[in-house]
Amino acid sequence: MLKKVVLVTGSSSGIGRATILKFAKEGYDVVINYHHNEASANALKEMVEKQYNIDAMVIKADVSSEDEVKTMIKTIVDKYSKLDVLVNNAGIVFDRSFEEITVEEFKRTLDVDVLGTFIVSREASKYMPNGSAIVNVSSTNGTKTISPECLDYNIAKIGVQSLTRDLAYQFRPNIRVNAIAPGWVDTKMNKDLPKDYIESENEKIYLSRFAKPEEIANTIFFLASEEASYINGEIINIDGGY
Ligand code: NAD
Repeated sequence: MLKKVVLVTGSSSGIGRATILKFAKEGYDVVINYHHNEASANALKEMVEKQYNIDAMVIKADVSSEDEVKTMIKTIVDKYSKLDVLVNNAGIVFDRSFEEITVEEFKRTLDVDVLGTFIVSREASKYMPNGSAIVNVSSTNGTKTISPECLDYNIAKIGVQSLTRDLAYQFRPNIRVNAIAPGWVDTKMNKDLPKDYIESENEKIYLSRFAKPEEIANTIFFLASEEASYINGEIINIDGGY
C-alpha cells in the first residue's frame, strides 16, 4: 500500500515543524514547505528521514503566490502522485497599532494567511483522494481574543475560519476541512514579547502557561486522522482555557 503523504506549509519552524515531526513519527511521508529558512527546512528533512525511516521532501514556495504554489503541488504529485493531508500552517502577523500599520502590511497579512490558505487548498484538492483531510491553522484571535495591536491578524484568522467552513462545503463529501484556533504558543512568533506581558497573559490562562508546539501538532494530527472521521467544518480552540 502507498504511504500517506502530508504537506505542511511554513514548516521550517514552530507549530509547522512540530507537525512534520508528529506525522513523520506516525509513518507519513512529509513535505516541508518553507519561505525563508532553507537551512532549517533541510535540517528537519534530514532528521525525520534518519529518525523515522520515511521519505521527506523540501519545497520553497510563497503560499500567497499562485504560480509558486502550482509548481509546489506539481512537484509533490510528480513524486507521490497524491496528497492525503494538507496543513495550512503558514502565517504572519505585524504587531502594529491601529495608527502604525501600513496598508501594505495589512494586505500582506491577508495575502499570506487567508489567500495563501485558499490558493494552496484549491490547488492541492485536485490531487487529494476521497477520505483525505485539510487542517487550517487559525487562532483564538479569530474567535475570542480582542487584540487591537494586531488587527490585520484578527481579521485574517477570522477569514481562515470562514474559509474553513466554505471549503468543507466545497469539497464535500470527499475531503474533510477543519481548523484549529490556538491561543498562546511558545514559538518564534512570540519571541519578542516582553517578560511581564507573558506573565500577565499566563495569569489569564487556566493552565498558567503557553502551549508547546507539540501540543498543537497533536490536535492537528487527530483532526487529520480517521479518529476524527465525522468532524467536519469545525474550529477547535486550543488555548489551555482563557
Ligand atoms: P512561526 O513564525 O514559527 O511559523 C510561521 C511559519 O510560516 C514560518 O516558518 C514562516 O517562515 C512561514 N511563512 C511565513 N510566510 C510564508 C509564506 N508567504 N509562504 C510560506 N511560508 C510562510 O510561528 P508559529 O507560531 O509556528 O505559527 C504557525 C501558525 O500558527 C501561524 O499561522 C500562526 O498564525 C498560528 N498561530 C500561532 C500562535 C502562537 O502563539 N505562536 C497562536 C495561534 C496561531
